[in-house]
Amino acid sequence: MADSTPPSQETLSNLLHETRSFPPPEDLAANANVKADAYARADEDRLAFWEEQARRLQWDQPWDTALEWNPPYAKWFVGGKLNAAVNCVDRHVANGLGERVAYYWEGEPGDTRTITYAELKDMVSQAANAMTELGVGKGDRVAIYMPMIPETVVAMLACARIGAVHMVVFGGFSVDALGQRLDDSQAKLVVTADGGYRRGKPSALKPAVDGAVADRPAVEKVLVVRRTGQDVEWTDRDVWWHDVVESQSTEHTPEAHDAEDPLYIMYTSGTTAKPKGILHTTGGYLTQTSYTHWAVFDLKPETDVYWCAADIGWVTGHSYIVYGPLSNAATTVLYEGTPDTPHKGRFWEIIEKYKVSIAYMAPTAIRTFMKWGDDIPAGFDLSSLRVIGSVGEPINPEAYMWYRKNIGGDRAPVVDTWWQTETGAIMVSPLPGVTSGKPGAAMRAIPGIVADVVDEEGNSVPDGGGGFIVIREPWPSMLRGIWGDPERYENTYWSRFEGLYFPGDGAKKDEDGDMWLLGRVDDVMLVSGHNLSTTEVESALVSHPRVAEAAVVGAADKLTGQAIVGFVILRGGGDEVPEDLVQELRNHVGTSLGPIAKPARLLAVPELPKTRSGKIMRRLLRDIAENRAIGDTSTLTDSSIMEVIAKQLPSAK
Ligand code: ATP
Ligand code: MG
Repeated sequence: MADSTPPSQETLSNLLHETRSFPPPEDLAANANVKADAYARADEDRLAFWEEQARRLQWDQPWDTALEWNPPYAKWFVGGKLNAAVNCVDRHVANGLGERVAYYWEGEPGDTRTITYAELKDMVSQAANAMTELGVGKGDRVAIYMPMIPETVVAMLACARIGAVHMVVFGGFSVDALGQRLDDSQAKLVVTADGGYRRGKPSALKPAVDGAVADRPAVEKVLVVRRTGQDVEWTDRDVWWHDVVESQSTEHTPEAHDAEDPLYIMYTSGTTAKPKGILHTTGGYLTQTSYTHWAVFDLKPETDVYWCAADIGWVTGHSYIVYGPLSNAATTVLYEGTPDTPHKGRFWEIIEKYKVSIAYMAPTAIRTFMKWGDDIPAGFDLSSLRVIGSVGEPINPEAYMWYRKNIGGDRAPVVDTWWQTETGAIMVSPLPGVTSGKPGAAMRAIPGIVADVVDEEGNSVPDGGGGFIVIREPWPSMLRGIWGDPERYENTYWSRFEGLYFPGDGAKKDEDGDMWLLGRVDDVMLVSGHNLSTTEVESALVSHPRVAEAAVVGAADKLTGQAIVGFVILRGGGDEVPEDLVQELRNHVGTSLGPIAKPARLLAVPELPKTRSGKIMRRLLRDIAENRAIGDTSTLTDSSIMEVIAKQLPSAK
C-alpha cells in the first residue's frame, strides 16, 4: 500500500482535463445569503468572522475569548454558555415560529407525521424529563440505536438539553458493533425501538440491543419506542417510551451548558481502519453547522423545504438533519426507508410531494440512480429544486453531470461538500450564489476555513500540483479528541505535518487554484513507481456506458509493485466481464488517464461492499484481490455481501 505518498505531479497533470464549469443562476446569485465578499472579510479577521457567526445563536452568557489554541487542542467561545436544544427549538417558538414545520416525516410504508417547532419543543421537554427520571445526568453517555423516526431526533435533543452526551449507532449495525461502542463510551441508557421499516418489511432492532446489553451492566435502562408493533422480549431494564416519556410534563427548564461541554460522540465510518469515537462539543459545533447549512445551501428558512437523505447514524445526519437545519429554523424532510421501496422513484416522489427545494445526498446513491435509468426521475416534477448537494466521497464528473441534468434540471447548482466526522461541518465547498462549479471539484475552503494542499514535506503546492489536503488553522466545529484515546488523536491527525491538521485525503489544486479531492491516502495505488488515485481510475471506468459502478484497488504484484484490480457492476447485470469488454474498458481507461492506469484485472460483481454512509470499503476488496482473509466487516451496511462477492470470484484467487 502506498501509504502517505501523494499522487505525483506528472501523473496528476495527465488527469482531470475537466473544462466544464457552471456559473450560479443569476437570480440565485443576486439573492444569495453569502456573496463573494465573505471570503475577504473572513481572511481579514478570521476570529471576528466566526464570532459574527456565533452570534447567530442565542447565548445565555457571552464568551470572553473566541479561541484558545494550545496545539493540537482548541477551545472555542471560552466562557460562553448556551443550550443546543434551546437554540434548535425553544428560541424559534419564542420568536413566533411555533407553527412552522420542523419535520415532514415520511415512513417507509407511507405513513406520515408533521411536527411543528412547538410540538418538537413539547416532545423534547418530555424526553428530557424522562431521561432525568431514569437517572441520566450531565456528562452521562446515552446510546441511540434507532430507525429514522422523529423520536431519534427528540432523543438527541433531550440529551443536549440536559447535558448528556449522545452516541448514535446506525440501526443497521450488528450486536457486536453496538456492543463495542457501548464498551467504548460506557453508555448508561440505550434508546431504541422495537424495529423500523426497511425494504417493505419491519426489521427488528430490539433483539440486537438485548444481545448487546446482556453482559454489559453499565447500561442501566433501555428505553424502547414502539414503531412496528413487533413482539419484543422484555426485562426489568426495559421501559416503553410511551409509558415514561409521553406521561411527562411538557415543561422543562433548560440549563445553560458551557460552550466546551461535550455534545456527542460519533464513530467514523471505519472505511480504512477501526472506527474512532470522535468527540464534539457544543458552542463551536453549533456555530459552524448553523453557518454552513445556511451558507452552503443558501437556506431561506421561510420558504425552503430541505431534505438530507443521509442516515442520522452518520455525522451528516447529525450536522445536516438535526443541528444545522434546526438551529436555522428550517423545514426538513425526514425519510425512514430505502430509495427503492416500494419503487425506484421513491426519492423523486418525496421531492415532488413536499416540493423539496434543497436536496443533499451521497454519490453512491446518485450512481445507483444513474444505473436505474433517466426515465425514473423524468416521471416526477422536480422543478422545486434550487440547490442540490453531494457528500461522502469524491463525486465522479459523470455522476455530477447526471445529477445536475436529471435532478437539478440543468438549473440547480451542485454543491460538492468535503468534510469528515472529525471536522464536524462542511469545510470545502462551492457557494451556490458565488462559485462557478466544476464537475468533480469541491472547489474552495468556505469562508473562515484555511485549507491547503501540501506535498510530502508539508510545503504548499503551486496551482496545478497535487498532494494532501491540510487545514492550517483551528475551526469552530473541529473534533476535540478521540473518546478515551488522546494519543490516537495526536498521532492520527497532528503528527504527519508539524502544526497542520491532516485529514488523510489526497487532493489536487488545478490551474485556477480550485481543489479536487482524490480520496483517502490509504487508497492511493503505487503502480510501476507512479501514484494513482483510485477515484480517478473509477471515474474513468464509470464514464464507460457499460459500467454502472466501479471500485479499484492496488493489489500486490511482483512486477509492478501494485497491479490495479477493478471490480465493476455492469449495466444490465452479468457475472463476468466478457473478454472483448475487458479490452475495451482497459483501453478506455488508458485513453482517459494514460496506459499506466489500465487495470490489470477486471472482475464483475453484483454489489460492492459499502459502509452505512455509502463508502466503498476498498480494504476488503484488497483482501480479496490479494487472496487474504477478509478483515473487519462490522461497519458494512450488509455484512453478507463479502461472501456473495467472494463466491462469485473464484477467479480472484
Ligand atoms: P474512517 O476514518 O474510520 O476510515 P471515514 O473516513 O470513511 O472512516 P467519515 O468521517 O464518515 O469516515 O468520512 C469522511 C471521509 O469521506 C473524508 O475523509 C473523505 O475521504 C470522504 N469525503 C466526504 N465528502 C467528500 C467529498 N465531497 N469529496 C471527496 N471525499 C469526501
Ligand atoms: Mg476518516
